[in-house]
Amino acid sequence: MASKSDPKICVELLPINDQTTLPPGNLVAPSQGSGPLELALDVRYFWRNGTTLRVRFLGGSQFVQSKVKQYAKTWESYANIKFQFVNTDDAVIRVNFQQGAGSWSYIGSSNLQIPRDQPTMNFGWFNDATRDEEFSRTVIHEFGHALGCIHEHMSPAANIPWDKAAVYKYFMGPPNNWTKEQIDRNLFDKYAPSAARYTRFDPWSIMCYAISDDFTIGTWSTPSNTVLSRTDKSFIRQMYPPRTHSEGVFRTMDLHPWNDPKPQNSKQFSFDPPYENDPPRIAIGLTELDVSKDANIRVNAYADRVTKEDLVVHTDAWADTTLYSAGATWMEAGDIDSDFQTGEFNTLELHPWNEPTPQNSKRVNFARSFPEPPCVIVWLKGVDMDKNHNWRVTAHASDISAEGFAIHIDTWADTTLYSGAASWIAYPASKKDACSGFADTSMQKETGLEAQAEKGGRVVFPEGMFEKEPTVRLAIKSFDFDHEHNLRFRADVKDVSKEGFQWTVSSWADSVCYGAGISYLAF
Ligand SMILES: [Zn+2]
Repeated sequence: MASKSDPKICVELLPINDQTTLPPGNLVAPSQGSGPLELALDVRYFWRNGTTLRVRFLGGSQFVQSKVKQYAKTWESYANIKFQFVNTDDAVIRVNFQQGAGSWSYIGSSNLQIPRDQPTMNFGWFNDATRDEEFSRTVIHEFGHALGCIHEHMSPAANIPWDKAAVYKYFMGPPNNWTKEQIDRNLFDKYAPSAARYTRFDPWSIMCYAISDDFTIGTWSTPSNTVLSRTDKSFIRQMYPPRTHSEGVFRTMDLHPWNDPKPQNSKQFSFDPPYENDPPRIAIGLTELDVSKDANIRVNAYADRVTKEDLVVHTDAWADTTLYSAGATWMEAGDIDSDFQTGEFNTLELHPWNEPTPQNSKRVNFARSFPEPPCVIVWLKGVDMDKNHNWRVTAHASDISAEGFAIHIDTWADTTLYSGAASWIAYPASKKDACSGFADTSMQKETGLEAQAEKGGRVVFPEGMFEKEPTVRLAIKSFDFDHEHNLRFRADVKDVSKEGFQWTVSSWADSVCYGAGISYLAF
């Protein structure tokens, strides 16, 4: 309610069959200094955790639409929910920009009950001159309703010393012209404790109206909140916790010990919760190898039987190779984040294994062009190398454009690389919540890894990139090992925080590692 001079307040809506509701046209919208109190959710209207909510604009200038997208996505940093902006008929959130009709939204999954030809959210006072602070305040607030959040002043924990006479007098007049019942329902009524999940009253919540002391007894008031409060962030994360669908790492040692080697190793992993629309695409990279020097180095990591519910991850050897152990990591690129694209390259696409070539490259065209050259990372997923020379291989991307890039799998000196395979992942360079790069043990002062050595370093993310600890996936992109000892190494990621993480590459026993490189993706 802000102050009396600024009557922009938001009214939360429930479908008619659940509760009598106000016709949207009657509502005067939220804002300036107003907001609900403490974060609370209506227990009936949680979305399933991990849901991707399709959002469609029913109007609005390109500028205003871009601002709504920008601020709506604020929630994605804390809630395991994605807003996907579409132009299709199947959008569950339909955003209108009817001027003067107030800003309002239906709550959570109650959006599903609204006929497809009607808006479910309105912004009634945005235009191309609107300030960012106002976009931030109102968009985050309304999309909070779309996630199921209710006004904090209606939380069971709210205990506001209303000056009811002053409130009635003001809201019964223009521009609101509310009835007493409307005022009771929108301002004074509270949810029953059993009907809401809530925290202690948080006057800094984005869902809290800025309540002027004009409307309370004494000097009680709440501030005008334009960003998520600490409580908002932690609470919504509890309500929609991070996806735990798969741990993202497969190790053959989880199946059998190294001294009981098997050529074929696989394990099924579930997506929890499952994907909704299509199975995700999988990028996979090697993280660990322990292979006998007595035969060629032949190993391949891959995923198959990928469904919406699960996938099977393999690390296999073939012919007379002894694979004591192997490990692989993967990254899912699905409807959960359509920003990512992924694919694979195998040198066998260029020439057969028995015509080995030291340098192999191919132009990759993205299925969908990016607006500008994206970030691309490459992981090694398979190699086939002769046992009689050192094992040297490197994979990388070059000549990256908005349409594609060149992927390379190379060797050097006298190494015979019969084949190599790699996965690649690309995402927009402007993506705010992803960070990637590579590191190499040769960047360390000393040359190479000594036996049983561990090398590594710390990656520091750009300041402020992550508001919470990201997921980090890391795999091998290059290595250089002496062929007179077994090939043994392992890449790990440790101590992940929102500021950075530690990577290590270790080797053990009598292995001689001259160098190894990793590529990482944090998101
Ligand atoms: Zn509201």
